[in-house]
Amino acid sequence: MTRITMKERIVETDVLCIGGGIAGLMAATRAAEKGARVTVAEKADTRFSGSGATGNDHFLCYLPEIHGTDVEPIVNEFQLGQQGSLRNRSFIRTWLLRSEEIINLWDNWGIPMKFNGRYVFGGHAFPGNPMYHIHYAGKDQKRILTRKAVEKGVEIINRVACYELLTEEKRVTGAIGVNTRKDELVIFKANAVILSTGSAIRLYPASSTPAWMFNTRLSPTCVGDGRAMAYRAGAELVNMEIPVFRCGPAYFARAGKATWAGVLRDTAGKPVGPFVTEPSNKYGDPVVDAYQDIFLDYKKSGRGPVYMDCQGLSDEDYQQMLYWLENEGNVGLLDHLQEESIDPRDKPVEFRSYHYELFPRGGIYYDEDGATSLTGLFAAGDELFGGISGAAVFGWLAGEKAAHHARNSGSTLGAIDRICIDTLKQNIEAMRNRSVGPGWKEANICLQQIMYDHTGEIRSETLLNAGLAALKRLKKKSREGLIATNPHELNRCLEVLNLLDVGELILVAAEERKETRGKHIRSDYPFTNPQMSKLLMIFREDGQHKTEWRSIDHQ
Ligand SMILES: Cc1cc2nc3c(=O)[nH]c(=O)nc-3n(C[C@H](O)[C@H](O)[C@H](O)COP(=O)(O)OP(=O)(O)OC[C@H]3O[C@@H](n4cnc5c(N)ncnc54)[C@H](O)[C@@H]3O)c2cc1C
Repeated sequence: MTRITMKERIVETDVLCIGGGIAGLMAATRAAEKGARVTVAEKADTRFSGSGATGNDHFLCYLPEIHGTDVEPIVNEFQLGQQGSLRNRSFIRTWLLRSEEIINLWDNWGIPMKFNGRYVFGGHAFPGNPMYHIHYAGKDQKRILTRKAVEKGVEIINRVACYELLTEEKRVTGAIGVNTRKDELVIFKANAVILSTGSAIRLYPASSTPAWMFNTRLSPTCVGDGRAMAYRAGAELVNMEIPVFRCGPAYFARAGKATWAGVLRDTAGKPVGPFVTEPSNKYGDPVVDAYQDIFLDYKKSGRGPVYMDCQGLSDEDYQQMLYWLENEGNVGLLDHLQEESIDPRDKPVEFRSYHYELFPRGGIYYDEDGATSLTGLFAAGDELFGGISGAAVFGWLAGEKAAHHARNSGSTLGAIDRICIDTLKQNIEAMRNRSVGPGWKEANICLQQIMYDHTGEIRSETLLNAGLAALKRLKKKSREGLIATNPHELNRCLEVLNLLDVGELILVAAEERKETRGKHIRSDYPFTNPQMSKLLMIFREDGQHKTEWRSIDHQ
């Protein structure tokens, strides 16, 4: 057999966006508008990649014409919600204050942000509280955002997954990508790099169908590459130990629960939550925004399962719910309902939590400008859990600042870090040329098992230590033994190596947070310690993990 060697291609640019999802495309468009030469490196194809690939329908926002001129009540509401408590208040304020501008842009670009000429609020709210999520029709958002970026002169390179950042004296100078279709390394030289690779899925078994690794709530190709790259380059990550899980229809793991208009009821037809008794597109049933364990608690107490009951929804409201579900990208589910002749108004749909499928709420620490702790490195979107609106707003802001940095830093494109490139090349060629060894699936499944068993339902010092030891062994074996029989598998192998790094950070940070907080459940520290209502930073120093507590800014 002929030995495979990786060819090299060099791409020079001012601003490199790694990941062409919502944040990446917004960042690229804005940086190009600001005069920068911009390249997007995308693992898949920006027209249909990432968690926003097939659409979304809820956009978090503050609209002065509806909410009034004072943003603070909406900031308060946000802080009570799913992601507010561990965020700096100034960050949330900036997000909300810039959201209207993005809504107007998207509407002008052809993503309908109104329904029948007006804003329609729905979901993620409790009756009587301010509502701050509008419904929008996001089905074609990726194609539209791609077109916009190209119009502004952005160069999009699809099918290239970046795996390593290049640095020079603590400044980020580019990245190394791997072509997912041919044996080629793409070396990017850039004055500013924006990480926008999305969430970190596939660390834990897939939701309610653990044997099916890709039946996940968010895009299964978003595997924390950005977090792993940033960490290895020396950037700070935050709150990696705090996990999240979600709920939805049993066996269909796609996100979108807030679009369901029905009431969650027990088997006797009694609502399981205190908030609603009638179906409505306005609220759906917000009980799970406050009480995620409800499905498990019902099951354990012999009262499960819990059903989403849409009985009584008018034809008009039902059609509207289907419209939003379609725009949310839940077409697979809608097709299934049609194929099986299921009308959720006649037949309640079993709902459950996707409690196996944890993913970190935390990620790369970036500020209101998208800046990270490393010079020349920016980040946006689900690199730090934020949904579509966070991705759009902070992508836009990061693009602006990265263009400014590229123009004003006085830096010229740095020399290539040959040692870093050659080391990666050697490792990749070894994977491509081995004839025996485990494939990426074996390693990924093994990692999921280790992560769930040691950091899933329950955590403790002894469990975390055992998990870390097992993970380190798996990491060594994977680095030394994985085989990739084609470029596609090579990408999957590199994804698993990144997932192993991300898993290790979770184990280390989870040991450091000696309290119980949300789904970070420490059996040896069973209560929430108010003194730990802080950001837990994790970063690399002299080749070692370092952690540091930092106060949250409440101003
Ligand atoms: C079905 C569904 C419905 C949803 N509904 C809503 C909603 O209504 N409201 C809401 O707020 N949120 C919703 N979400 C979540 C929302 O889609 C995400 O929060 C959002 O897409 C995040 O944007 P992002 O740009 O950070 O990441 P993504 O849009 O996921 O983009 C990340 C991109 O990076 C690429 N990538 C990853 N790794 C690499 C690499 N190493 N090199 C190059 N490229 C890479 C990926 O292929 C992808 O294109 C939903 C998600 C799903 C799946």
